Amino acid sequence: MMTVHFTCKGCGSGIHVYPSLDAGAVKCEVCQLEQVVHFDQNHIEGNLKDCPACARKDFYSQKDFNRKLGVIIFVIAALISTAMLWKGMGPQWYLSTFIVLYALDFFLFRRLNMIAICYKCETIFRDVKNIREIPGYDHEMHDRIVYSDHDFKGKPSGH
Ligand SMILES: [Zn+2]
Ligand SMILES: [Zn+2]
Repeated sequence: MMTVHFTCKGCGSGIHVYPSLDAGAVKCEVCQLEQVVHFDQNHIEGNLKDCPACARKDFYSQKDFNRKLGVIIFVIAALISTAMLWKGMGPQWYLSTFIVLYALDFFLFRRLNMIAICYKCETIFRDVKNIREIPGYDHEMHDRIVYSDHDFKGKPSGH
């Protein structure tokens, strides 16, 4: 089932919900602010056509990359190479540590699922059935939607 991760307009906390036709609003657990949402049959079936929070049709897809994990791997690599350097080991040793950890990171990264994100309100959608129909991030679209409030209505021009 598709899961939806709203960002609270009041405090920026994440609000996790499953699409439901009965839900007309979601409530933030942290600041109690209610946010109007519109789920339809498409959402129930896992198809992303309209944003339940802002009603836009413009989304981009990306890997569900775990930034924390990336940072942890980098820190481990830095610690190991520092220790090797301190022990007087040659640069080929600590360089290879980075290569191994980079490969590990790459492997983990590639195994992650794709998620869809609303350009306008940054709501995150996981387990989207039609994820293949959603294009990757487009910087120009993002700027036009966020800064000029342009509505592409799900049909990006050009690209
Ligand atoms: Zn809140
Ligand atoms: Zn939205």
